[in-house]
Amino acid sequence: MKRRKFISTTAAYGTGIILGSSLFANSSVHDIVKLTIIHTNDVHSRVEPFPDDGSRNANRGGAARRSTLINNIRQTEKNVLLFDSGDLIQGTPYFNFFGGEVEIKLMNQMRYDACTIGNHDFDNGLDGLVRMIDRANFPFLISNYEWNDDIIQSKTKTHQIFDIEGIKIGVFGLGVEMEGLVPDKLYQNTVYTNPIEQANLTATQLRDEYMCNYVVCLSHLGYKYKNDKVSDLVLAAESKNIDLILGGHTHTFMKKPEVLINKENQAVIVNQVGFAGLLLGRLDIIFEKNKHKCVSCENIQL
Ligand SMILES: [Zn+2]
Repeated sequence: MKRRKFISTTAAYGTGIILGSSLFANSSVHDIVKLTIIHTNDVHSRVEPFPDDGSRNANRGGAARRSTLINNIRQTEKNVLLFDSGDLIQGTPYFNFFGGEVEIKLMNQMRYDACTIGNHDFDNGLDGLVRMIDRANFPFLISNYEWNDDIIQSKTKTHQIFDIEGIKIGVFGLGVEMEGLVPDKLYQNTVYTNPIEQANLTATQLRDEYMCNYVVCLSHLGYKYKNDKVSDLVLAAESKNIDLILGGHTHTFMKKPEVLINKENQAVIVNQVGFAGLLLGRLDIIFEKNKHKCVSCENIQL
């Protein structure tokens, strides 16, 4: 394939990960907007680094180190969005003693822009989840759970749209099926709906109704399974109108994001950054008119 054809094909796909592309070389600076998306998943109450005990993760991670890195990125990049894909809590005594208060305060200080809900975020029941949401300065996005309880229904949102210098970034959340995974007394009347159908409905609404230039799914479905359970890889292949899936739940340490093709032959990027805040995912996306391109991506060790 000739270079020109190759470039225009990836531009149509929109999310081809290509370093050093000359696609935007002739555009005026004002037409170009750069967005840096950074993300975590399954931090599981890891406020402090792992203990210095000679184990594999000794001295790694911790909120202070993550915060420093995020602040450094914010100092060099104008447009930054920070997301988490669920399971904020459970795993250290910080959760057992303070019920998620410490984790949410730290996320507020780091200026998270949105998160989705993981199965462990129900570990103190719906009341515990509501207390976390009430403390957060950022929305909890979930499109495939519903409650007939007005309190929690009104405190969550299906999606959020961020305006980045006129570029509209639509973000929505997807949760895992909790039956058999979470005691039903914890999730109570939470109704789970098919994530693929819901994702396609929400993403299409974001793209066509709200005219979003880029659609991000915060998913707690898991990266992939040996059986036919819905995962991020299944979702990516069956989806339409999603550009980026930031995953969680399976604690998968991906070296770099993966690019899949959806059912409309468009590229979908899938990424997940392990657990416990040991990695921070970073994707730099350039928007030019109606095109966008992920120009670099890395999962940074902490
Ligand atoms: Zn988890």
